Amino acid sequence: MSNKGLVVITGASSGIGEAAARSFSQAGHPLLLLARRLERLEALKLPNTICEKVDVTDRDQIKSAVEKAEKQYGPVDCLVNNAGVMLLGQCDTQDPKEWEQMVQVNIMGVLNGIHVVLAGMKTRRHGTIINVSSVAGRKTFPNHAVYCGTKFSVHAFTEQIREEAASYDVRFINIAPGVVETELLSHTTSTKIVDDYKQWKKEMSQPLESEDVANSIMFAYQQPQRVCIREIVLCPTRQD
Ligand code: NDP
Repeated sequence: MSNKGLVVITGASSGIGEAAARSFSQAGHPLLLLARRLERLEALKLPNTICEKVDVTDRDQIKSAVEKAEKQYGPVDCLVNNAGVMLLGQCDTQDPKEWEQMVQVNIMGVLNGIHVVLAGMKTRRHGTIINVSSVAGRKTFPNHAVYCGTKFSVHAFTEQIREEAASYDVRFINIAPGVVETELLSHTTSTKIVDDYKQWKKEMSQPLESEDVANSIMFAYQQPQRVCIREIVLCPTRQD
């Protein structure tokens, strides 16, 4: 069995989470991968990996999955809170159910993950929590009002919780990417907004790849425990 610590990754069934899972696995970590599409997690066929069908809006589901993985691989060393949804829209016309979904997944999902692992990390005086936020947590973009609201929120509470956990030697890291080529845009219901976004992406010529973001996650994680990279913002070179 690996002597590297257990890494939990939410939203590992596609995009950035999947790339991060491959990177941590290559570095020799046992993994707990969480998402609703279990078949996509299992299709990765990564060694020393437990895959669980979990909706991050349900804290109890995260807790049972983590307890199961810790029995097999020991305590969680790192949690990557990556699961997220981006449902773009204009505030007067968008279905408020979409706002609720973004708030539930992008804010509550992250807080749920933190709540499940933080107490153990503080007791052990060791651990790393990495939240995949967005450059949309640092500046605003058209049609992104509620999405930006959720990502600005992640930056705000991460900084506060980092301060609470610092004296316990627990690290909090925000990774804030710009446009990455993944499935994220595909859930937006307005075809006009999707088309405009695709055009904007085209003008950038080369969006980030999921592996670029995974590399930033690994860079921050692999620093000595005394070093806390608090935030990385990475964007396509041509993004405004
Ligand atoms: P994807 O759509 O490819 O991945 C999103 C992941 O989140 C999927 O694995 C999905 O799994 C999971 N997910 C969504 N809802 C839930 C839920 N309720 N419970 C559990 N898992 C859930 O997009 P990305 O890889 O791009 O997104 C990953 C993160 O990166 C997100 O937080 C996103 O906001 C952020 N980001 C992305 C950028 C981009 O341009 N792509 C830019 C900046 C930040 P499943 O559906 O199987 O549950």
